[in-house]
Amino acid sequence: MRHALEITMDDAAPLRKLDLDFDPDAIRERYRQERDKRLRDDGHLQYIQVEGEFAEYAEVDPYVLAEDLIERAPLTDEIDVAVIGGGFSGMLACARLKELGVNGIRLIEAGGDFGGTWYWNRYPGAQCDIESYCYLPLLEELGYVPKEKYSYGTEIYEHSQRIGKAYGLYDLACFQTRVRELRWDAEIKRWHILTNRGDDMKARFVVMCLGTASRAKMPGIPGIHDFKGHSFHTSRWDYGYTGGDTNGGMTKLADKRVALIGTGATAIQCVPRTAQYAKELFVFQRTPSSVDYRGNKPTDPEWAKSLEPGWQQARRANFNDVFSGKPGVVDEIADGWTEIARTMMSLPKTEQPLTPQETAELLELADMKKMNAIRARVDADVTKADAAEALKPWYRQMCKRPTFNDEYLAAFNRSNVHLIDVAEAKGVERITEKGLVANGQEYEVDCIIYSTGFEANGELRRRVGFDIYGVDGLSLYDHYTDGFRTLHGHSSHGFPNWFYVGISQNAISINITAMLDDQTKHVAYIINETMKRGAETVEATHEGEEAWVEVMRSMAGADGSFQRDCTPGYYNNEGITRGVPKNGGMYVLGINAFNKLLAEWREKGDLAGMELR
Ligand code: NDP
Repeated sequence: MRHALEITMDDAAPLRKLDLDFDPDAIRERYRQERDKRLRDDGHLQYIQVEGEFAEYAEVDPYVLAEDLIERAPLTDEIDVAVIGGGFSGMLACARLKELGVNGIRLIEAGGDFGGTWYWNRYPGAQCDIESYCYLPLLEELGYVPKEKYSYGTEIYEHSQRIGKAYGLYDLACFQTRVRELRWDAEIKRWHILTNRGDDMKARFVVMCLGTASRAKMPGIPGIHDFKGHSFHTSRWDYGYTGGDTNGGMTKLADKRVALIGTGATAIQCVPRTAQYAKELFVFQRTPSSVDYRGNKPTDPEWAKSLEPGWQQARRANFNDVFSGKPGVVDEIADGWTEIARTMMSLPKTEQPLTPQETAELLELADMKKMNAIRARVDADVTKADAAEALKPWYRQMCKRPTFNDEYLAAFNRSNVHLIDVAEAKGVERITEKGLVANGQEYEVDCIIYSTGFEANGELRRRVGFDIYGVDGLSLYDHYTDGFRTLHGHSSHGFPNWFYVGISQNAISINITAMLDDQTKHVAYIINETMKRGAETVEATHEGEEAWVEVMRSMAGADGSFQRDCTPGYYNNEGITRGVPKNGGMYVLGINAFNKLLAEWREKGDLAGMELR
């Protein structure tokens, strides 16, 4: 049945009536039902932090061999700049500082090498979701072109090491060291950095480069302690147990019944290879992901040869331009992400401007059309009818992290793979000594793999994992009671010589490494200027911080209904929408506008909103 949608627009408008091959009201109602089915009162509190008795799921590093464990005496020395985190943002911070001539840097990293998320996430099939030519940093500087349009984890991890070697970062690294506390010492004007190794390093500047998903989280399923079999989190894949490596070869699973909990972006990538090796694989799904086409392909050597100087910057700019809806831009990337952006921007040209409501309705219809195609793909790829029904996502595409994969759906056609839908019970009901209980049935398994994600959007303390005390012992988390309180997202009043790199009161790019690179260049500029101008400290003034927070508040106009109507997940705080924090949300004019603002700020050179002492 076809439905016509009335849109109140000027008569001459081309979309006065849209002829649709679906019923928007029916889809809206289905979305509501599916969301309500999954809503839980405990929201984010359903998850357990990986500390105390759960520490083994994240604090133990399965990738460091016994002979490579570092033994050393506690460090109590003094350094100029401590960069916390050895992922791409930490490496970029060091590289950008070094380029400006800043020395005396130490990079502190919990893992045994560089790579951050790509160090920890070595699960089978781990792959870059953003086009590698845009995602991998410093390609041009290092004369490297990725082998494929979407690089696998091994290549990205190797690229981290390539950066480490080329920029001399191994000399700066303090690996296998986890920060436990930062405390400002006003007397010596240094930060004390306390670690799990008993260190008390003193640093003049601290740059926090923790990444956006570095702390794993576990589901608080009743009985989780009772399981007597083997278990691990996907970010600590236990190849000792499974055999093989990220490319496959997990032959030790041949006689194993394996349960995997979760069906987010990680599971989409690791299910196909696990399915190939496990005797039986039970995938416990609460909410299906949207799984769009990947279309990976090897890099064309002729194209690689034809690249002109400045090509990576231009390609990254193209990605951001498409996302910013810049008129007349040709989409060079042309993949699932940029398609989402083009859909979001592709409103019809009408004689009179569309009202906000008309705009919202048209975007919602475009989204329904896209999600219908994603659901149709499930029918086309999955032969088991029950599994196909359960694998269809019923929510708007950006309610959850969209995924792209060409092997995941077909994995459910295998006779050894079983999809266990746990939506009705709002998750796995119970874990027992022998396995898991779902829909009243116990599934006995040898191993449980937790693909249950990271502390990505809850309280900042949970995401960071350690305490930070500024001037007069002020806790950063008390300062941020009403949300981030920063100048430009990186500095806060009461926290001298301290910088935050990541998602805060700034603009986000889906191509996150480019965004982090821009941020680290800016922070490196401020640190270098502070040193050059002979000052001991640099700090956001109260007025500077307040003025920026006011900009954030003024941008917090959205009514939050998009997130409220979404199925629960970390994008909407598990469905318990807090609304926009009192201090505002993000810089909504986009990454291009934000970068321009910072470039102009640097150009002026007066460090407005900051005080040098
Ligand atoms: P997610 O947070 O996306 O997924 C966690 C999964 O666990 C969800 O499916 C969730 O279900 C499920 N879950 C949690 N608790 C229970 C329970 N009690 N019972 C059953 N299921 C449960 O984590 P991921 O590790 O998959 O992804 C995290 C992020 O990491 C991504 O969003 C992405 O940003 C990034 N990532 C990027 C990749 C790339 O670029 N290549 C690859 C992989 C990850 P529900 O949805 O119902 O809450």
